[in-house]
Amino acid sequence: MLRRLANSQALSNGFYRTIPSLLNLPSSLHFLNRHFSSPETQNNSTSSFHEDNSENPNDANEQPSQPSTKLSINRSGLCNPPEHTHEPSSDSELVKHLKGIIKFRGGPISVAEYMEEVLTNPKAGFYMNRDVFGSGGDFITSPEVSQMFGEMIGVWAMCLWEQMGQPDKVNLVELGPGRGTLMADLLRGASKFEKFTKSLHVHMVECSPTLQKLQYKTLKCEDEDVSASNGDKRTVSMFSGVPVSWHTSLEQVPSGLPTIIIGHEFFDALPIHQFQKASRGWSEKMVDVADDSSFRFVLSPQPTPAILSLMKRYKWASKDEIANLEQIEVCPQGMELTQTIAKRIGTDGGGALIIDYGLNGIVSDSLQAIRKHKFVDILDNPGSADLSAYVDFASIRHSAEEASEDVSIYGPISQSQFLGLLGINFRVEALMQNCTDEQADLLRSGYWRLVGEGEAPFWEGPDDQTPIGMGTRYLAMTIVNKKQGAPAPFNESQD
Ligand code: SAH
Repeated sequence: MLRRLANSQALSNGFYRTIPSLLNLPSSLHFLNRHFSSPETQNNSTSSFHEDNSENPNDANEQPSQPSTKLSINRSGLCNPPEHTHEPSSDSELVKHLKGIIKFRGGPISVAEYMEEVLTNPKAGFYMNRDVFGSGGDFITSPEVSQMFGEMIGVWAMCLWEQMGQPDKVNLVELGPGRGTLMADLLRGASKFEKFTKSLHVHMVECSPTLQKLQYKTLKCEDEDVSASNGDKRTVSMFSGVPVSWHTSLEQVPSGLPTIIIGHEFFDALPIHQFQKASRGWSEKMVDVADDSSFRFVLSPQPTPAILSLMKRYKWASKDEIANLEQIEVCPQGMELTQTIAKRIGTDGGGALIIDYGLNGIVSDSLQAIRKHKFVDILDNPGSADLSAYVDFASIRHSAEEASEDVSIYGPISQSQFLGLLGINFRVEALMQNCTDEQADLLRSGYWRLVGEGEAPFWEGPDDQTPIGMGTRYLAMTIVNKKQGAPAPFNESQD
């Protein structure tokens, strides 16, 4: 997401001269890539080229950052005015709710519980009621930067499907699909490969009703009557007529079919526990309410249940890794989700792709809050800013290995390597041959953001809009059924 830098570039205008030649041209995937779906099709698509072409849906119903909680009551029909009034409170619904939990419990809550409420509280969670993506939102993600991202994930999924022996029926699952842009680009890009698209049933795992609706639109879905007599409906995407279903957890996705799972920037949104070294050992960091009624961090004086996850994580760490640590983050939900994925892939066949920013080892202190493309205090006005943490890829590997003997884990490799080996260079060149100057500029900056490292050397525009490459900050890992062997492009990587 470009979320890591909270960068504020919106649309990149002209100013580019050359495409940087970052990567060696890939070999085996050249064919697939060239035939992936013609540049012409892309030009006609509403989602073409992206680089945040959002219509800024937040603008229409912008929420004040401190919603007023004063009630407006028509008292004209009352005989007696109320005898006492209450002090108006500027606390948002979510702040009141969090304070209520802390009060009810008689003590602080874990950072994980705070994060979970802030992001996914059904009434007021950050993701639940609005579109938070793009230049008009709070942060921007790779699928929103360029259509090439979803297309390359499509190449990966098709290669895996080939390796699986081209099964007739496959569940294609996306965890936390945001606006649905990645899936739309994947399906549109793959539309020429009918045997592949015909095998698919898409399952979107999304907790936010607002984002579910947005995904329905992005995938150009329609409801079809399947049986006139009992009124049953099924939802179909106009991209290749693929059936689409929504769920709020992976467990709800029907099992029994080979499955391809994609999780882009999903694990970083899962709640983490934070521990800090104290004189008595590791203490969990908690969120409490201070005397002035603001939130504050405190350390738990007693061991907390999450210590079990910390012990588990410790077991997987080398002595060197933990020798000088003062803080540790652990993500039990990430571990459990990985186990569910590994068991599913081990039993049903297929594979999962996880792309996120993170480390291939213990994460110490990475939790961050971003509002309107700027870093803000984690405890400030909860629910109005995104919270996310680095993903511990080593923990994912160990959790998967522990959960199933029938899976292999490859990576992490950098996003730059992943996209480069899948042939993004061919894709950008093909798209460049048939586009306007403006689109060419969007493609160049989008390409740099996906695979480059640091500031784009070719940028000649305003400094504060320099595209920042995220190719090495983001990592890709795959969990596949052992039967299939190493999947592309992990079979080619040197890692
Ligand atoms: N993959 C998208 C969006 C990433 S943001 C992209 O790259 O653009 C995280 C997404 O996960 C959002 O769609 C959010 O609503 C969803 N999400 C977060 N926590 C979730 C949970 N516990 N269960 C289901 N969906 C969740």
